Amino acid sequence: MAPADRPLPLGSEMRFMADAMLERLAAWLRILGFDTALDRTLSDEALVQQAIQQQRVILTRDRRLTEEWRVSGLHFVAETAPLAQLREVSRRFDLAGHARPFTRCSRCNTVLDPASKRDVRAAVPPRAYASHSMFLRCPTCQRVYWPGAHTRRMRRTLRDTLARLGWPGE
Ligand SMILES: [Zn+2]
Repeated sequence: MAPADRPLPLGSEMRFMADAMLERLAAWLRILGFDTALDRTLSDEALVQQAIQQQRVILTRDRRLTEEWRVSGLHFVAETAPLAQLREVSRRFDLAGHARPFTRCSRCNTVLDPASKRDVRAAVPPRAYASHSMFLRCPTCQRVYWPGAHTRRMRRTLRDTLARLGWPGE
């Protein structure tokens, strides 16, 4: 299939490939559970090829890329601030209702696994360790996640950012 003819995936199956300028947007999309690849070692051509192979929508701040590669699954991100970019992408691809927050590693994009308290002891500060029983761990980079003040702050930020776009409140 020619790149320009490929159909866009919908809603919950939305997968993204962000360019190197969109690191913070990529982290926010991952926090919402959307599969968002970012590899700063890729050339433009390799990025486009990989996105097509993996059926990812390309998110880019690079006008040149948009003009050079006239493929359907390529979105030029107009906004410059990460949260405004998140709002833009969410609106453009109708992501509301498809998010699965805090299920994916914001650092490396891997789906998180539940981890037992014993398994995470060395990786968690004592106070968080003592006050939580639920932990998630990234099987790739080993980062450990738990519901704490940090995630509450992020939820608030997401709610404020995505309000009025049809995102369910909490
Ligand atoms: Zn990770």
